[in-house]
Amino acid sequence: MPAQKTQRILVTGGAGFLGSHICERLVDEGHDVICLDNFFTAQKTNVTHLIGKPNFDLIRHDVTLPIFLEVDQIYHMACPAAPGHYQFNPIKTIKTSVLGSINMLGMAKRCGARILLASTSEIYGDPHVHPQPESYWGNVNPIGIRSCYDEGKRVAETLFMDYHRKNRVDIRIVRIFNTYGPRMHPYDGRVVSNFIRQAITGQPITIFGEGEQTRSFCYRDDLVEGIVRMMNNTDNFIGPVNIGNPVEFTIAQLAQQVIELTGSKSSIEKRPLPSDDPTRRQPDIALAKKHLSWEPKTQLRDGLTKTIGWFNTIQLENYRPPTPNYV
Ligand code: NAD
Ligand code: UDP
Repeated sequence: MPAQKTQRILVTGGAGFLGSHICERLVDEGHDVICLDNFFTAQKTNVTHLIGKPNFDLIRHDVTLPIFLEVDQIYHMACPAAPGHYQFNPIKTIKTSVLGSINMLGMAKRCGARILLASTSEIYGDPHVHPQPESYWGNVNPIGIRSCYDEGKRVAETLFMDYHRKNRVDIRIVRIFNTYGPRMHPYDGRVVSNFIRQAITGQPITIFGEGEQTRSFCYRDDLVEGIVRMMNNTDNFIGPVNIGNPVEFTIAQLAQQVIELTGSKSSIEKRPLPSDDPTRRQPDIALAKKHLSWEPKTQLRDGLTKTIGWFNTIQLENYRPPTPNYV
């Protein structure tokens, strides 16, 4: 399946933050792209520039329900990703991961399509191994407030592997670490979008806990490149593979960078740390380097500068907070 051949490609969650960038890249490459989304956390403006192009279709549909399409590849991105979004209706979140994966795997099996799962670093939970290699099985609370997302994605990975082993479905699994960039929903409650929105509007920057917890932030362009390489790798490397930036920052350091780059006068306000919030997170990307010749190129400072630039172009009042759970 060479990357340059024109393919019929389905992107579930295609109107979301990452999905819309994948759609854009694939449309630009000349593929026949179907974007499927239920618009829970999506913005139509993420794909407005693609609507009307002859090689782009937009379908409003929920992946928990069956759908029959004819495709060659499926990027399965549909799932709320920000804690405030996935905790809004946790049962729906699990249904999206489990039923959505079953429906898309069934489609891949019927069509003989290759299917890629957008899994997550969250499957490592609050890790005891640092940095996290793909061989680490994780430390996940099965009954906590993050479990609907973490365990949902773990089951999705299991389903992908079982469809592969039993039904020979051609799969790829990508474990995405915290990714940021233009088109993040400004009210999604994630740390980068919160800090930038708060900084440019002069609101207090909300640090949860003492800000000593760490994350490793990947810029969206690097992420999309890694995902597309994984989908099209020709040495039958199915993963799972970590795709993320291995440079680790504390949340307090992130706040300082955002304040500096925006020139904001915002104060810092400490808030209680949500339960089960992982204390540290850093990808081991040796497998991605080996099999995909991939590693991120964008430094946090440069990626934040571009993201802040985008936040300065949007009208915040046009973005409806999809759930009430944001600060
Ligand atoms: P997002 O919320 O912007 O995108 C998710 C998209 O899925 C949205 O457009 C939403 O409307 C759609 N969706 C949700 N439930 C659906 C359903 N039942 N049927 C159809 N569409 C549905 O989030 P994102 O950051 O773009 O995340 C995309 C994928 O990448 C998710 O699967 C997420 O778990 C994964 N991921 C993202 C990150 C990150 O840092 N951005 C990290 C790890 C994993
Ligand atoms: N966080 C924070 N202030 C905020 C939003 C998030 O301090 O306004 C913290 C959060 O507690 C976590 C980290 O930032 O430790 C990353 O949170 P995010 O929701 O972006 O991603 P995840 O926890 O899923 O990695």
